[in-house]
Amino acid sequence: MLVKETLQKSPLVISFEFFPPKTLEEEEALFQNLERLKRWNPGFVSITYGAGGTTKDKSLELAQRIKDQGLNVVAHLTCVGATKEELAQTLDWLQKRGIENLLALRGDPPQGEREFKPVAGGFRYAFQLLEFIRKKWDFCIGVAGYPEGHIENPDKEADLKYLKLKVDKGADFVVTQLFFDNKYFYNFVDRARAIGIQVPIIPGIMPITNLKQVMRFTQLCGATIPRNLIETMEKASHPEEVRRLGIQHAYNQCRDLLNHGIKALHFYTLNRSRATEAILTELLGKTQV
Ligand SMILES: Cc1cc2nc3c(=O)[nH]c(=O)nc-3n(C[C@H](O)[C@H](O)[C@H](O)COP(=O)(O)OP(=O)(O)OC[C@H]3O[C@@H](n4cnc5c(N)ncnc54)[C@H](O)[C@@H]3O)c2cc1C
Repeated sequence: MLVKETLQKSPLVISFEFFPPKTLEEEEALFQNLERLKRWNPGFVSITYGAGGTTKDKSLELAQRIKDQGLNVVAHLTCVGATKEELAQTLDWLQKRGIENLLALRGDPPQGEREFKPVAGGFRYAFQLLEFIRKKWDFCIGVAGYPEGHIENPDKEADLKYLKLKVDKGADFVVTQLFFDNKYFYNFVDRARAIGIQVPIIPGIMPITNLKQVMRFTQLCGATIPRNLIETMEKASHPEEVRRLGIQHAYNQCRDLLNHGIKALHFYTLNRSRATEAILTELLGKTQV
């Protein structure tokens, strides 16, 4: 099903992000965790592409396997290291396999590199990928949005205009980068609406279960963790206490988003399930139909 239709029809859309596992054990764990999360009837499951050093083929294979389980898949696709011809082949592959939804991204620079370098015959920006896809293929397409601004662009208003450009080129929905203070999200949505971005904007939630790990992510992507949350977590005497605080914080964020009438929540699962399960159980009970 097209994500844009799911977002229109369902009173609440819960979705999960997974990345391609590197080992057989991780793969087994991923599918067990996915099985546990299915209880909340996800509107879609998204699969990252080439992020964190994983291979593109593994992403496509995982997208197909999850689709074969009867789940609605959003396959991420990036411009990294790919010519137009290679992107066209990937798009044909996805279409042939009945994958209807994409997240069209520029992509992160490969591991060890700081700067994004387009390949000859490829694209520099996600909006160009959007333009390219819309010429020939009929996918429902999401794009990335940054409540605190994209790390490479100090001009937040320009960054938002570039999000508008992606929507003008045919994006059907936006999934946000993770954030830990809802005020960034509400402000982002208000500013987006004010410049005419009308498509659904889905908040991205990541429960902190390991402070150091999430601090590393946030340094890379430019999101911030509230000072008082860091201080409370640093005072915690045990990793379990950090986990509990992280889950409680993400639950509070989700509760507040729902109270503000937000109708979709996207969880960055890191291929795990327990923290997301704890939040959803508290929020919605043990299942969602
Ligand atoms: C929900 C989500 C999922 C993600 N999944 C993946 C994944 O699977 N694989 C992966 O590698 N990465 C992933 N990322 C990370 C993403 O690829 C990076 O954040 C990347 O640095 C930017 O991608 P983008 O699509 O937002 O790029 P763009 O929208 O192209 O923006 C990139 C930068 O260029 C600027 N810009 C845009 N258009 C213009 C223009 N016309 N002129 C000048 N400047 C411009 C923007 O302000 C921004 O600073 C994900 C991010 C999010 C939020």
